[in-house]
Amino acid sequence: MPRHYPKRERKKAGDKRSRLDRRRQRQRAAEEKERQRALEKEGRRRGLIRIRTDRLRSRSVMGSMGVPTFQGCYYEDYPFVCCDCGRKEIWTAKSQRWWYEEMGGEMESFAIRCRCCRDAERRRKDEARRISAEGRERKRRRMENGEG
Ligand SMILES: [Zn+2]
Repeated sequence: MPRHYPKRERKKAGDKRSRLDRRRQRQRAAEEKERQRALEKEGRRRGLIRIRTDRLRSRSVMGSMGVPTFQGCYYEDYPFVCCDCGRKEIWTAKSQRWWYEEMGGEMESFAIRCRCCRDAERRRKDEARRISAEGRERKRRRMENGEG
């Protein structure tokens, strides 16, 4: 038994595979185009807000991949469960557009907290900032007084 196929046959098998790959690729691209068309039609029918991609800001090279709110060409109400209290909330299409296009929110960021917990989180952060600023100020004064 030869351990390898003769070179010529191997090459032929490779050609066949890449032809198949190209065909699959073309098919996938066609399917994707069809999917986008269907999405657009559906979006127009439902009067959805279109995502203006030129206004989006992204920090990652991955773009919209994996961002649950960017799976189509329209903003859609995004139901989620608050990571703090477990309450079910909906991040509306309108506030998504506000966040991404007007506030310049990064594409990779999306709602994880309900309004209540978001407010609480903001207060907690403000408080932490205040305390750390106070700490720095105390240290600075100690240094000035030669106690540091
Ligand atoms: Zn919550």
